[in-house]
Amino acid sequence: MGEELGVSTRKEENFSQWYLEVVRKGGFADQRTPVKGCDVFMPWGFGIWENIQSIADPMFKERGVKNAYFPLFIPKSLLEKEAEHFEGFVPEVAWVTRGGDRELDEWLAIRPTSETIMYYTFSKWISSYRDLPLRINQWVNVVRWETKATKPFLRSREFLWQEGHTVHASWEEAKREVDEMIEVYSKIFDEYLALPFLILKRTENDKFAGADFTVAFDTFVPEAGRVLQLGTVHHLGQNFSKPFEITFKDRDQKVKYAYQTSWGFSTRLIGAVIAVHGDDRGAVIPPRVAPVQVVIVPILFKGKEEPVLKAARELLEKLKEIGVRVELDDREDKTPGWKFNEWELKGVPLRIEVGPRDVEKGGFTVVRRDTGEKRFEAEVERVPELLEEIQRSLRERAWKRLEESIVVVEDLEGVKRAVEEKKIAKTYWCGRDECEFGVKEEIGAEIRGTRYDVDESEEAKNKKCFFCGREAKFTVYIAKSW
Ligand SMILES: [Zn+2]
Repeated sequence: MGEELGVSTRKEENFSQWYLEVVRKGGFADQRTPVKGCDVFMPWGFGIWENIQSIADPMFKERGVKNAYFPLFIPKSLLEKEAEHFEGFVPEVAWVTRGGDRELDEWLAIRPTSETIMYYTFSKWISSYRDLPLRINQWVNVVRWETKATKPFLRSREFLWQEGHTVHASWEEAKREVDEMIEVYSKIFDEYLALPFLILKRTENDKFAGADFTVAFDTFVPEAGRVLQLGTVHHLGQNFSKPFEITFKDRDQKVKYAYQTSWGFSTRLIGAVIAVHGDDRGAVIPPRVAPVQVVIVPILFKGKEEPVLKAARELLEKLKEIGVRVELDDREDKTPGWKFNEWELKGVPLRIEVGPRDVEKGGFTVVRRDTGEKRFEAEVERVPELLEEIQRSLRERAWKRLEESIVVVEDLEGVKRAVEEKKIAKTYWCGRDECEFGVKEEIGAEIRGTRYDVDESEEAKNKKCFFCGREAKFTVYIAKSW
């Protein structure tokens, strides 16, 4: 019964295969498309994205961010305007070179990100300090022509994201924007997606192409021993405002170059939710972002169908009334066991079973997806409370697992061992490129950066660089990544 439906791979044993099975069988995405890395976001996966949007969008707007839409095509000359930016992105740009049957005079990039096309326009919108700050966001698709193996949500050629772009009168004001957006992102990832993370300032080599500095959120998947970037916030300084001539006349009548930030997260968050919270039976979706929070499965026995179905339908209506996203699975061609398997694989946080005995007792049986705990409930009002309990416990478990995955080590051997044991190495670094590139070459793990939210520089005092043994300057985190 339903054997073919379940996940055949254990998460711990082969994470990649487990992940692909869950994504496909759980109805999150379909990779069987004619173009590699351009996957279908199926309703269950897309539903999570819609919920993330409905959470994040009002938070952005509350901060004065306005949504807009900028063109998909970016002329090559525009993309080239900021040299570092162009160099950083050109290896993965998809180009349009023909229109109909004619060669184009100028190649058009399909947006890999929209700094250049937006800032071209911003320069026409901004002329005075009164036009600042400007805060624009767009929810769009982007294309990055990955050559490595692709994985739905985690690494794909086309994905969906939001990109926020702000313009300010001073470096400090842009810095405040960066810090405030870090708070907003923290809230979304932590309180809604129940995802734990390290907030890291990326190294000079690893920062966004064209940024003054980049702050990134890294979550961790213990079974895979890899960190996963959830989102980034960049302080762009005047690096774009100069080539794009985004200037404003300040209060002192002087014309100045503006300061900018950009920030984004993508549909990779769906992959992160699956990867971090899932178990051997499939995905476990945090209630606050689950497209369906509760599924009701009637347990039908011959001759006793009517009262059970009636009770199930009443429960459905009551739960809807109190704002629960709920579905009644009354398919007649599937057994309850088959349905349990399917909904477990999809990661529905709470299952409600209604059988003849539940009806007699005047209630229903709840089964938690995260713990498997099963019990009788009589009060409908208990359901939202239970969902919040699940949300909390998923969050706590995930944070605990991240904290337990960080090991402090002092030399390359220690870093190597940590990475082999699927951990994150916390260690000390001199700051030189040689050691940063060296560790990547030798063990395939990267320096992910220094803590941004907590000052850990003191810890590096009197320490030696893990790689070269010279005096250390930074406390850094090293891990494998996707
Ligand atoms: Zn060193």
